[in-house]
This record gives sequence, C-alpha cells and structure tokens, in this order.
Amino acid sequence: MTGVEQSKSWFARAASATPGGVNSPVRAFASVGGTPRFMVRGEGPHLWDADGNRYVDLVSSWGPMILGHAHPAVVGAAREAASSGLSFGTPTIGEVELAEEIIRRVGPVEQVRLVNSGTEATMSAIRLARGFTGRSKIIKFAGCYHGHVDALLAQAGSGVATLGLPTSPGVTGAQAADTVVVPYNDLDAVRKAFADNPDSVAAVITEAAAGNMGAVAPHEGFNAELREIAHANGALLIMDEVMTGFRVSAAGWYGLDGVAGDLYTFGKVMSGGLPAAAFGGRADVMARLAPSGPVYQAGTLSGNPVAVAAGLATLRAADEDVYRALDANARRLGTLFGQALSAEGVPHTVAYAGNLVSVFFTDSPVHDYAGAAAAETWRFAPFFHALLDAGVYAPPSAFEAWFVNAALDDAAFEVIEAALAPAARAAAAAERP
Ligand SMILES: *Cc1c(COP(=O)(O)O)cnc(C)c1O
Repeated sequence: MTGVEQSKSWFARAASATPGGVNSPVRAFASVGGTPRFMVRGEGPHLWDADGNRYVDLVSSWGPMILGHAHPAVVGAAREAASSGLSFGTPTIGEVELAEEIIRRVGPVEQVRLVNSGTEATMSAIRLARGFTGRSKIIKFAGCYHGHVDALLAQAGSGVATLGLPTSPGVTGAQAADTVVVPYNDLDAVRKAFADNPDSVAAVITEAAAGNMGAVAPHEGFNAELREIAHANGALLIMDEVMTGFRVSAAGWYGLDGVAGDLYTFGKVMSGGLPAAAFGGRADVMARLAPSGPVYQAGTLSGNPVAVAAGLATLRAADEDVYRALDANARRLGTLFGQALSAEGVPHTVAYAGNLVSVFFTDSPVHDYAGAAAAETWRFAPFFHALLDAGVYAPPSAFEAWFVNAALDDAAFEVIEAALAPAARAAAAAERP
C-alpha cells in the first residue's frame, strides 16, 4: 500500500459535492470506517485506486462483473455500439436480442421489459402484480433487499408476521402499510400473513436466494412451497433475481431449483456493468403492461443501445466454463475463509447460496435476518481493513455477499490467502463493543 492520500482528498471533495461523498450508501465505508477507495481502473480480477494501489476485487461491482473487469468482448461491444450513437429513443435491434437471450435462458420468462436499474424492475413488477390482481398488499421477507422502492423499504422488527414499519423517513405510513414483512425461510409466517390479509395480497416478492443479508440460501423446498401458498391465495410470486440472475447459473437461481416465479426481476450481470435491468415473466401477466395493457411503465433511456450491447456481450461470453469457474472460485474462497478463521479460533460460518459466498462470525447456521444480525459483526471491520491493507477489496459491510468473478486466477488467490492470515488475526483480536 503506497498510501491513500488521493482517495482521502477526493473523498473530502466528494463529501462536499454529494451527501456522504457517495452515490450509493454502502460505498461510504460507514460500517467499517476509514477512507473509501477511489478506483480509477479495473482489469481482470484487479482494481487500481487513485493512489496506484492494486486490489484483488471480491465485490465485482456488486455482482455485474462476472467475467472480470474490462473484458475485451464486453468493452469492444460497448465501444462499437457507442460509436454508432448513444441513444435513439426508438426500438433497436440489440434490445430484442437481449430480451430473447433472457427468455432463452430462463424458462418461465415469456416476455421481458427492459429498464435501467434493479429498483425500477422491482417497482414495476409490483405495480404490474397489483394491476393484474387488483389487490394492494405485498408480502416481503426481512433482510431481503429489492432496491429502494418506497413500499419495499419496510422491514419487520422481529419474529412474527407484522405490518411493515417504514425503515426510512420519507416512506409514508400508507406506502409501508401495504407491505407485510415476514422472516425469511419461515413458511408458517407466510401462511399466517395470508390468513391475516384475506384476498388482499397481490404478490409475494422474494430474493430467489437471499444475498443482501449475506448469502442465505432458501431451505430445501422453501421456494416451491412459497409458490404453492401464493397461488392457493390468488397471489403472484415475484422472484427477484437481480443478484442471482445469470450469476449462480446460466439461468440464475431458477437453473438451480427449477421453481417458476410468475414474474422475475433482473439487473446486475445482465447489464454488463452499464445501467440496465429487466423484469419479465408470464405472458398473460406481462400483457397487462402499457402499451399492450393498462398498467403504465416507461423509460426515456430504457433499452439503451450501449448498455444492451454490454449486457448481451456479457451473457454471450458467460458459457459453461465461466459458470464452472465462478462455482470453483466461490468454493475456493469459502475454503480459505474457513481455514484462516479456524486457525485463529474465530467463530464463523461460511455460507453459500450457489456461488454467492459470505462469512458470518457465528458458529450457528444463519437462516434469516435475525440470525445474520446475531453474529459477532463487530469482528468484521478489523477483518475488512486487514484484507484491504493486504490488497484485497472485500464488500465493506458484514451483511453483504462476496462476489467472485471468473478472472480470479491462482496469483489472485495467493494474494487472498496471504491477506486472510492477518485478517483472521484481526478478527480474533477484535473486542466486543
Ligand atoms: C441490487 C439489488 C436490487 C436493486 O438493484 P439496483 O440496480 O441497485 O437498483 C434489487 N434486488 C436485489 C436482489 C438486488 O441485489
């Protein structure tokens, strides 16, 4: 590490121009402290910051960069599209090809609408589910993140099915009141939520596998039963695959458990790293969307040709070898976590959801948000900073999954393994606040 003076000075300027100095909160290092790194370049498994420090990147832009950074095919496709014009506000060929690629990969998706972010995708999917069913309530799970949609920024305090309380000022009671929050992996709570809200639930929205409280896989049969319960009550199942889609397999989590949602949301990987996302699903539901139906949804830059080109190039390059590499790299990372933390006697659970991986500082298996929050999260900041000092860029929060990419090679894993030794020592030495 040659110092972080450049990052420090840019962060000071950023903090005066932008609230908290960042355009998305977790980037600010609020939960780990220290100076957020200003990255200036990425290539393969590496990032370089403004001071010239190199990092092995285990965030991968929060998921999109499954091929590694600046992949030649993706950059080439974006460059070529850009040189033909950046936006037309008309239909384009690329957006049809991207929609067809998504439909080809994910069986239950018969039609797709492209949008600009995962937030827009979930917001639109919920509006569509409400329009289709004529109902207003949504059931979501504590610890599942679906973007910053007003109605989905609601989270229960604990245990039982309960009316959502807004977790952000600016979300009105009315917006939160239509959201029922239940614990993840708890089917009885889902049944109770339906019983308490007869004939009024439009949809259950779930992360196909939870990745926003750390990686927490659905219990065997959970998604299938969720679908049964939703349908028995006249509600739709919305599978949020913004994180898992096209990462955990060619067909996302659906490719692993085969449980069909009625609607799907996608983002991250399918964007290739530019702003693009999508929602899609059953043709009879999607037909209710404007202009073929009455449910309004639109976007000036939706289906942007440069973003679509990058997304399509990413999906086309993501072949079996890439998915094999992602799976192997996740296991290799998880194994290294386990070895390093065991060597220092740090209580830990290495959790996987497909090739999403995370480490919880607890010996108890984590099934839901309460379990994730009960871990010794105070060990995370020193763990994180020891990794960072040794050239490994980890997600700067104890509640995030780690995102491997296919470009991680033996040299990168040597850096990770070497960094994990002092990181595990730092986690062991951490003191309970
Ligand atoms: C990242 C994420 C979103 C939000 O996507 P943005 O593009 O950040 O708006 C929604 N759902 C899940 C599961 C996500 O991981």
